[in-house]
Amino acid sequence: MTEFKTVRGMRDLFGEDSETMLHIEEKARETAKLFGYEEIITPIVESYELLAAKSGDEVKSRMFVFKDLGGRNVALRPEFTASVARLVATTLRNAPRPYRLFCVGSIYRYDEPQKGRYREFWQSNYELMGTDRPEADAEILLLTARLMQSVGLDFSLKLGHTGIWRGIFNQEGLPDNVQNSAMQLMDKKQYDDALELVQKAGLSKKCTTILQELIDLKGKKVFNIIDNIATIVHDYPKACAAVDNLREILSLVLEIAPETDMMLETGFARGLEYYTGMIFEVYVPNLEIALGGGGRYDRLIELFGGNPIPAVGVAHGLDRMMLAMKGRKTSTETRIAAPNVVIPVNEEMRKPAFMISQKLRTEGIPVEMEIMGKKMGKALEDANKRKMKFAIIVGEEEWKKGLLVVRDLEKREQTTLKIEEAHNKLRK
Ligand code: AMP
Repeated sequence: MTEFKTVRGMRDLFGEDSETMLHIEEKARETAKLFGYEEIITPIVESYELLAAKSGDEVKSRMFVFKDLGGRNVALRPEFTASVARLVATTLRNAPRPYRLFCVGSIYRYDEPQKGRYREFWQSNYELMGTDRPEADAEILLLTARLMQSVGLDFSLKLGHTGIWRGIFNQEGLPDNVQNSAMQLMDKKQYDDALELVQKAGLSKKCTTILQELIDLKGKKVFNIIDNIATIVHDYPKACAAVDNLREILSLVLEIAPETDMMLETGFARGLEYYTGMIFEVYVPNLEIALGGGGRYDRLIELFGGNPIPAVGVAHGLDRMMLAMKGRKTSTETRIAAPNVVIPVNEEMRKPAFMISQKLRTEGIPVEMEIMGKKMGKALEDANKRKMKFAIIVGEEEWKKGLLVVRDLEKREQTTLKIEEAHNKLRK
């Protein structure tokens, strides 16, 4: 008979993995609440047209696209931003600004599966729409820092600014399509190819020398680097404005959270064409792949038919956070809260055990009921293996007297208690 497997690039999460994933999701939700982001739930399936509207060919070629039974062209979401932009450009059009929106869920991309790269993965996504102030960019960075800290990860933020490049390219009259291709090459760190491309498109030797100097500028002394960039681009007013903007964002973050590990990389680009300002990615030691990324995209909402709304956002890769937590042996709090099991001593005691289970749940105590008809010894052995905390044993004599046997599975001790006392003990 065929042994069924998960589809390539997709995984089952169970045991410690699913617990860790849920723990991260909980922290992401907690972070959203702390910063005032409203959670929205959008469909996994969207129209292909919507998802393709602002995507380059590369993203389009990696979408799970199909026709539904009504013949509509649809696709599984390859990111949250398009859905959020749709909502903001339509239903939320007249809601008071700014919009702080949060979503968490699964994302689908036909990537080549490898460590930390799957075809179904999870993201938490935060969008702050309605302002182009640097405080908004700083908020997205601080929120990311807060989430990483809350799951116990040491992280660093890699930053750049698309406005520096766009400022130079636009002033030099470089066509948009060449600009986009150059940025995509830079995203893949193919800097020589990017420089060759812009030179072929007519950029002066002087200008390519400037670009080369910018590409080489990176490091952790962020304000020194910013001063250097400012000197290099002083003939390009729009690029200078971008440098000032980056300086302001960085000083806001570092004044509020001076311990934040930041690294500036002027040649850093992010693949998607819609970024207009600050861009960043999150890294942890010993893992080359990014745990999250985002930036400013002030013209995106227009692309979806809405009025122009400046916006900044971030998406965190929950699977990669999980991977990083494993490497660092960061434990999750949820694992400590082991549940309790209610075991009837014999067939007659099944119904009383059922009633007690339900009563305990009403009191807010999580319990599971032994329903396999296991002998007591076997039931206790299995509960031990599963690292449960207490076994509540329902015996005939005790039941008649309103008593319960509560066995502490770690200490291997048991006490006979009144039902009300048992509640108190289990609640601890
Ligand atoms: P992006 O939407 O491309 O900016 O990605 C945001 C984050 O999602 C990345 O930094 C990764 O952590 C995560 N991510 C992107 N693609 C994948 C993938 N194929 N598998 C797992 N995580 C991914």
